[in-house]
Amino acid sequence: MSEILDPFKISQKQLSEACKLAEYTRDIYNVLSEPERFVQVKITIKMDDGSIKTFQGFRSQYNSARGPMKGGIRWHPDESASLVKALSAWMTWKTACVDIPLGGAKGGIICDPRIMSERELETLARSYIQQIADFIGPHIDILAPDVYTNPQIMAWMMDEYEKIIRRHAPSIITGKPLPLGGSAGRSIATAQGGIYSIREAAKDIGLNLNGAKVAVQGFGNAGSWAARILQNDYNCKIIAVSDSQGAIFKNNGIDAQAAADHKSQTRSVIGLNGTNQISNEELLEIECDVLIPAALENVITQKNANNLNCKIVAELANGPTTPDADKILQEKGIEVIPDFLCNAGGVTVSYFEMVQGYYSYFWTEKEVIEALDRVMTRAYRSTVEEANKFDTYNRMGAYIISLERVIEAMKLRGWL
Ligand code: NAD
Repeated sequence: MSEILDPFKISQKQLSEACKLAEYTRDIYNVLSEPERFVQVKITIKMDDGSIKTFQGFRSQYNSARGPMKGGIRWHPDESASLVKALSAWMTWKTACVDIPLGGAKGGIICDPRIMSERELETLARSYIQQIADFIGPHIDILAPDVYTNPQIMAWMMDEYEKIIRRHAPSIITGKPLPLGGSAGRSIATAQGGIYSIREAAKDIGLNLNGAKVAVQGFGNAGSWAARILQNDYNCKIIAVSDSQGAIFKNNGIDAQAAADHKSQTRSVIGLNGTNQISNEELLEIECDVLIPAALENVITQKNANNLNCKIVAELANGPTTPDADKILQEKGIEVIPDFLCNAGGVTVSYFEMVQGYYSYFWTEKEVIEALDRVMTRAYRSTVEEANKFDTYNRMGAYIISLERVIEAMKLRGWL
């Protein structure tokens, strides 16, 4: 039978499995299996060559029981309604898993920002906000960066929103540049949070991270910082890294900072001195201790899961493992740190950015990172505990603990 690859169907399948394990009724599953609101917009902009182009944009607001909804904005040619809905569901479970007082949302635009000019990107950012401004707000739904969006794009979006409502409202968006109320530590937060969960998982399976071999798929914000921090702070050996152009390999270790510099100069890690080129598929099957998928969804599937040769899969990307592949990884005894736990460092520091913004009082990077460690370590430990209690695997442990919190909030509000 061919496996399910539709992201929203995957998120519903995972939710259904968790509801069965925790013995929630079908009614509760039905309430939780669709977003509260899904907005689709048309964005028309004038391109530099004089042509008029129309883009499709989305905002999915999944659940607001625990607080204002929160989620990034992805700009990618393969963006789709299904993916945005799935990502908004995972945001809901993520904020509940790390126990911060927020709900879940996600947005996106089908476009390829890599071939657009600075002016076109700014116009697209501002037009998207004009289209969704009625549905968002610092106490309703707060935006953030994701794949192919960055602090500059957040700054334009914040400015456009403030122009529309005619007052300052920096907490409409997180991942802002520091001079506009961004948080220290936000750029490394997703990677650093994932590393705290890797540290805990390594303790659990008796893996010494000193000298451990690591492969990272996707050398963007999340992946490149993960490689640099693991190398600098834990003395890991980064044997392979990749981006959309392909992967590079070096058995005795790639200098992660040199790879980041090479990518910023040439737009790819390919061609870094002293490394051999391999494919993204080969990278996933390489023998290593820690494999970090940090690019896109559905990369570990029924087809390649059996060939994985690692001890820990740390899912910095959202949705990298299909449900069929999940079962295979369990049978192989690979420790999987599920996406909405592993990559929750980003939204956690985004929440810290909101808190700092409300008080207009900003913390040092050390304070931010120490607070992040406490949140991630607690979330990792409670996930593993819940998985043990229900005799299940970590992803379901994370789901069950998140569901308990979301359902409790919904019941207290009288929604259930
Ligand atoms: P990014 O845009 O900074 O980087 C994405 C990287 O993936 C780029 O280097 C790109 O070249 C590479 N890539 C794209 N297609 C690829 C492919 N087919 N094979 C290999 N590499 C490919 O994005 P990011 O913010 O680092 O996000 C990466 C993943 O982490 C996404 O799944 C995202 O949802 C997730 N995530 C990011 C954050 C965050 O704070 N940035 C938070 C939580 C989750």
